[in-house]
Amino acid sequence: MEFRDLKKQYQVLKKQIDKAMTDVAASSAYIMGEKVKEFETSLAEYVGVKHCITCANGTDALTMALMAWNISKGDAVFVPSFTFFATAEVVSLESATPIFVDVVADTFNIDPLKLEESIEKVLSDGKLIPKAIIPVDLFGLSANYPEIRKIAEKYGLFVLEDGAQGFGGSIHGKKACSFGDISTTSFFPAKPLGCYGDGGAIFTDNDEWANFINSIKVHGKGTFKYDNVRIGINSRLDTIQAAILQPKFDAFKEYELEKVNVAARLYSKKLKGIVKTPIIPDGYYSSWAQYTIILENKKQRDGLQAYLKENVIPSMIYYPKPLHLQTVYKDSGYVLGEFPVSEMLCDRVLSLPLHPYIEKSDIDLICFKIKSFIDKNIT
Ligand SMILES: *Cc1c(COP(=O)(O)O)cnc(C)c1O
Repeated sequence: MEFRDLKKQYQVLKKQIDKAMTDVAASSAYIMGEKVKEFETSLAEYVGVKHCITCANGTDALTMALMAWNISKGDAVFVPSFTFFATAEVVSLESATPIFVDVVADTFNIDPLKLEESIEKVLSDGKLIPKAIIPVDLFGLSANYPEIRKIAEKYGLFVLEDGAQGFGGSIHGKKACSFGDISTTSFFPAKPLGCYGDGGAIFTDNDEWANFINSIKVHGKGTFKYDNVRIGINSRLDTIQAAILQPKFDAFKEYELEKVNVAARLYSKKLKGIVKTPIIPDGYYSSWAQYTIILENKKQRDGLQAYLKENVIPSMIYYPKPLHLQTVYKDSGYVLGEFPVSEMLCDRVLSLPLHPYIEKSDIDLICFKIKSFIDKNIT
């Protein structure tokens, strides 16, 4: 059994993907080119925003958004303490300060009430200037944008949606990667829509930022490649990745996203009353980057993971350590106990195998094993 079966997906889409790859090899257009433009157009249309700019990975996508807003030293950027490291890393890389905010246990996403408290605290401390919020669509579920947008407007902050795991999700039909002033995603292979290497994209309705990002992703180019008007980076999506992504995106839209939702619902039905299953608020649709359960304590979680492993069932801990307790931030003044929900989750979460090609019999087996473990371990 695979945690996320990319081999199976390749078998299903082999004909189209092989053709896409050999077409690019034969074309000798390896960087940018028409294929990339076409893919950007289809992504922008799907998400419902004016501009989609592809780039080398999801981390660069976040970085370039911060560059477009000139986020720098002395600026405070609010990020959840329970997410993948890149969300905070990009803030520090721009010499700004990530301000961690605890999350809501039910959704794993940034807690709007604590966000506002945190903004107030930064304002009253008077050392940093609040500039932006980076909500993360963790495990495929969009953050609480209706509340976050109200707070952003009240305090005049930018919203940068980190949709690396959220692509394909929606709130009342409005698609993920359209909730930020700028939104980003990642095409890392294991993300909801993945390529065969690294890739990423940026979404915005703002023409000025789109132009700026189109320039900085190619060394700060001006009217043409050898006219450089600013300091940029090199962050392009390879043509071959765009070509591979196109048939994968078609499958994603046509059935993969729905199939992963069917599989997640089956898990939730079977695990109801046995462990705490993920909650999808009314009106939200998840792209299920992960199916993550919460156990009663660390001992039970670690025990279950070991038990599943003995039964050749893979599982993962996303994430074992909250961002405020990362070694690199040890001098930032955060202490254990500061963000109890994030800390609790790090001890108690477990992500189960989930992908569009998972068999019902695999889910039956996994749930059966979880139930037997929990039954046996009642304390
Ligand atoms: C994967 C991920 C990123 C980074 O994307 P890469 O393409 O790996 O650079 C950023 N934020 C979150 C929440 C992620 O899961």
